[in-house]
Amino acid sequence: MNSDRTVIIKEDILIVDDTLENLRLLSTMLLKQGYNVRKALNGQMALKAVETVVPDLILLDIMMPDMDGYQVCQRLKQQSSTAEIPVIFLSALNEVFDKVKAFEVGGVDYITKPYQFEEVLIRIQNQLALKTAEREILQLNSQLEKRVQERTQQLEIANARLLEMALHDSLTGLPNRALFMKRLQSALQEVKANKSSQFAVLFLDCDRFKVINDSLGHLVGDELLIAIAARLQSCLSNGDTLARLGGDEFAILFTEIENISNAIQMATRILDLFSHPFQLQRREVFINASIGITLGNCDYEQPEHLLRDADTAMYRAKALGKGQFHVFDPEMHSVALRLLQLENDLRRAIERQEFVLHYQPIIDLNQGKISGFEALVRWQHPTRGLVSPGLFIPIAEETGLINPIGHWVMKQACRQLISWQQQKLVNDNLSISVNLSVRQFSQPNLIEQIDRVLAETLLNPQCLKLEITESAIMDNSQSAATILEELRKRQIHLSIDDFGTGYSSLSYLHSFRVDLLKIDKSFVQRLNGTSSNLGLIPAIISIAQTMGMKAIAEGIETTQQLIQLKKLNCDFGQGYLFSEPLNSKNVVELITSDPHW
Ligand code: C2E
Ligand code: MG
Ligand code: MG
Repeated sequence: MNSDRTVIIKEDILIVDDTLENLRLLSTMLLKQGYNVRKALNGQMALKAVETVVPDLILLDIMMPDMDGYQVCQRLKQQSSTAEIPVIFLSALNEVFDKVKAFEVGGVDYITKPYQFEEVLIRIQNQLALKTAEREILQLNSQLEKRVQERTQQLEIANARLLEMALHDSLTGLPNRALFMKRLQSALQEVKANKSSQFAVLFLDCDRFKVINDSLGHLVGDELLIAIAARLQSCLSNGDTLARLGGDEFAILFTEIENISNAIQMATRILDLFSHPFQLQRREVFINASIGITLGNCDYEQPEHLLRDADTAMYRAKALGKGQFHVFDPEMHSVALRLLQLENDLRRAIERQEFVLHYQPIIDLNQGKISGFEALVRWQHPTRGLVSPGLFIPIAEETGLINPIGHWVMKQACRQLISWQQQKLVNDNLSISVNLSVRQFSQPNLIEQIDRVLAETLLNPQCLKLEITESAIMDNSQSAATILEELRKRQIHLSIDDFGTGYSSLSYLHSFRVDLLKIDKSFVQRLNGTSSNLGLIPAIISIAQTMGMKAIAEGIETTQQLIQLKKLNCDFGQGYLFSEPLNSKNVVELITSDPHW
């Protein structure tokens, strides 16, 4: 007969009435409905009963001795523990005034005696249902609050993750440039606040990393970078920051050091670590690194400047022969600035055509006559005067500006020779030699460019000689063979310049047939008349002879040197003894004087 609801919930109802009969009647009926019923005969008892167990609902008579129902209700509403209990008044009072008062003191309903039990039951059920609904809403609210909290937490985690991603390198997990700069900034602030503290920045760049990427692929390159990061990390302590700046560049913020020697020790340790191969999944890889070091002190205003100086020092280390470290000194910064200035000037010089060619005669040592000229470029700088190629060719080479400059040189040299030929100043066999740097030699359109110049100037290709260094061949060994072949087809002669100073291996001479070897002036200048100082010269001349090439000695300054070279059967000579490089006007004078040596 009990419904499910009554079985499960068994709500607790307190009936307060001073009439015992009423109490009994109501409680019997409510008990039958499955409610838990308690009874109180007066207000005091009711308040006591409520203290022990808080009922789910109170049926409250109004007219009682001592404390009437209104007072009981008011007392209940004052206590937070009982304030929420729904109170239904039961009373014979049937005036509107009484009903209004009942609601005013906090009652939720009002039933007039005599009542029908069904009505009481329905009203009780309504109030209890309302209470349950309220409780559910409360519960839902707290669940909702909990979910909001959870979501907020998830968002915070996601945000932290995003921040982490923004400040870290995804490949190695190391701090990235942005985070490194932040740490550098705080280190700088620390130094400014506490002048005795010091730190160092190490800038590390792998040597020849591109070769690994190009030959073994980017996946291996990535694997190697991860291995490098791990190895670098292993020699740092907690306070230090290792960051990947990008590509194969890493930076280390080395804090709490006493002096530069700590940083040097660290660099030495790192270079030592690089001397062991990196064990990758499928192969072992050897790689070197160059390190630039700069000391952080309070003279620095911006963290970027520290990194810039460490970078400059790293470039210096590379220039000094890779696999080394170098400590920055302020002089290097001004050198770097000067180089930058030079580079800018050089770009402008190309636009303004500030270059001129000088020509140095090449002498046929058998006949003692001029057989050709080497074109040597000079830069007519607006403020510095004539700048020698040794000062700007390396920068032009590094920045790629050598290509437009070289193109101009070739065109100008060919035009000049044609002009001398047209003026009948020289015979048709006289040649012009043009230097090609490594970068020029590796231009994919080199042959095309030469063809265009020859077509434009109408110079006989046999009069053109090109001078390259050994490294031009070694650095481009794949394309070199094709270029040499194309030159041969056109009967353009090729010389190896500064021969003997480059690669020690001569085997390339077998695969790359050239026409002339130019013995470097450092060998020639050691000649002093005695046979003990001949050095490599006889060997070079005999290599040339055996392989059907001619030899030219550069930098002949004394008659004694000339005599010795003639004795050794050197074919050609060039040097101040005959003439310095001359401008075109002076060349004309020299030719017309028809010199003989
Ligand atoms: P290089 O091709 O070996 O040219 C010979 C250098 O030796 C020239 O220096 C020349 O002036 C110098 N020289 C000639 N005779 C003597 C001598 O008796 N004693 C001494 N001590 N030196 C002598 P320069 O003109 O300063 O050129 C230096 C280098 O710059 C050249 O060496 C060449 O490698 C490069 N260069 C010059 N012009 C060009 C050019 O148009 N293009 C390219 N790519 N490089 C050029
Ligand atoms: Mg040369
Ligand atoms: Mg030379």
